[in-house]
Amino acid sequence: MTLPLRVLSDHAYGPEPLNTCYWAETVPDWQLDCPPLQGETRAEVAVIGGGYTGLNAALNLAHAGVDVLLLESQFPGWGASGRNGGFCCLGGANLDNDALERAVGEQGRREWRQVERLAVAHVADLLTAEGIKADTHSDGETILAHSPRAMRGLESELASIRTDYGVDAQLHDRADLERLGMAGPYHGGLSIPIGFALNPRKYVLGLLRAAQGAGARIHGFSPVQRIGREKALFRLETAQGQVLAHKVIFATNGYGSEDLPPWMAGRFMPVQSSVLVTRPLSPDEIGQSGWTSSQMAYNTRNLLYYFRLMPCGRMMFGRRGGVLSSPQSDARTMADTRQHFERHFPSLAHVETPYGWHGFLSVNRSEIPFVGPVPDMPGAFAGFSYHGNGVAMGSYAGAILADLARDNTPTRTYPAVMQQSPRRYPLGRHRRMLLPLGYLAMSIKDNLG
Ligand SMILES: Cc1cc2nc3c(=O)[nH]c(=O)nc-3n(C[C@H](O)[C@H](O)[C@H](O)COP(=O)(O)OP(=O)(O)OC[C@H]3O[C@@H](n4cnc5c(N)ncnc54)[C@H](O)[C@@H]3O)c2cc1C
Repeated sequence: MTLPLRVLSDHAYGPEPLNTCYWAETVPDWQLDCPPLQGETRAEVAVIGGGYTGLNAALNLAHAGVDVLLLESQFPGWGASGRNGGFCCLGGANLDNDALERAVGEQGRREWRQVERLAVAHVADLLTAEGIKADTHSDGETILAHSPRAMRGLESELASIRTDYGVDAQLHDRADLERLGMAGPYHGGLSIPIGFALNPRKYVLGLLRAAQGAGARIHGFSPVQRIGREKALFRLETAQGQVLAHKVIFATNGYGSEDLPPWMAGRFMPVQSSVLVTRPLSPDEIGQSGWTSSQMAYNTRNLLYYFRLMPCGRMMFGRRGGVLSSPQSDARTMADTRQHFERHFPSLAHVETPYGWHGFLSVNRSEIPFVGPVPDMPGAFAGFSYHGNGVAMGSYAGAILADLARDNTPTRTYPAVMQQSPRRYPLGRHRRMLLPLGYLAMSIKDNLG
């Protein structure tokens, strides 16, 4: 059987990058509840990929009484959804307001900004409705200026935050940050009262249980290897089984491949992000670090740091970077991440970080997620590229995909800008070779202030 044309090295799809993932310690093993697909079966809708996008699609379809079956290569949450930083926050695109208006006009910009807010609310509502306990904390998010120029940038955003999101953001000078327990190498900051942090795997587990409870059939260890047509139906083949389905949803994001479906080739870029988690900090260590706040925070660097002091007393620290995926490059990336952590929190330089891992999110050339029908493939839909903000936006995208797969006009706001096919990157499957140049440019910009 032919294997899908993947973009990353085999190592990236294996267990090693996840070997020391803290989230795995915090939830019971649920993988056994998702047996591999065996034999031939039928479904109204087949979903490929068991992250936030796929599980939200499956949950919404099952709630609507649709016979839905989800196929996941490994186990639900194995991809970025079970290994991310847990920031359920605004975002999803890389475009500022000017670029958005050039692309889709003022109304289009407003719609997109509204959807960012709605996506966060979607997850909050889901946690409540499904009774998912996911160790939530943080009252919105705080953005920390890494330079005086970046602080001026934050100041200039104040008015647009009110217009875009209908809330009042708060500016902080250095003294204010210290008073709020957010001391550090910052030139000030900005808090936006939208969003919260969560344990990403507890959220996945809750979604899985909710989807199964609503009747969705979820199969782990069932990578889809080929898709063909059989009259009006799709035939999805895995190693041990086959599904005939009327509709199919592709929810593979950074772990997708070039031929599932072929239209996907070159339209997404897997980008690596890495995370460290410390041992529990003592109250003294927390005090000395200057960071006593439970706020989730990130800085204004293009190659940003994101971090939060979790309710369990451990600090989680993440950053973008890394181009290759191999045991050697993983070790280098983790060592680099540790160095960044020590530089950022010098008083914690002695603290062990027993957990460290990385994974792949997805960006695209349009710098905005795609959610919609796959062109020239009637009955097929896809959602991907949340630009590192898929906790909220991937979840929302999954709910929209469920509507589309039922031939319904989405009841949720569905901005036109998400419906445009992203352009292809050059270099085909080798497009990740474009990243080092991009990272270099970003890091020069960051160092210039
Ligand atoms: C380290 C890290 C930190 C991050 N931090 C944040 C954060 O704090 N906040 C935030 O909003 N976002 C964050 N992100 C991004 C966020 O995690 C993703 O945008 C989101 O999880 C995407 O969800 P998804 O369901 O679309 O894709 P994924 O969760 O990646 O799921 C895709 C799934 O598809 C499966 N798959 C692929 N091919 C096949 C196939 N052929 N057959 C069957 N299954 C297949 C994969 O195994 C995978 O499980 C982070 C990402 C990483 C890697």
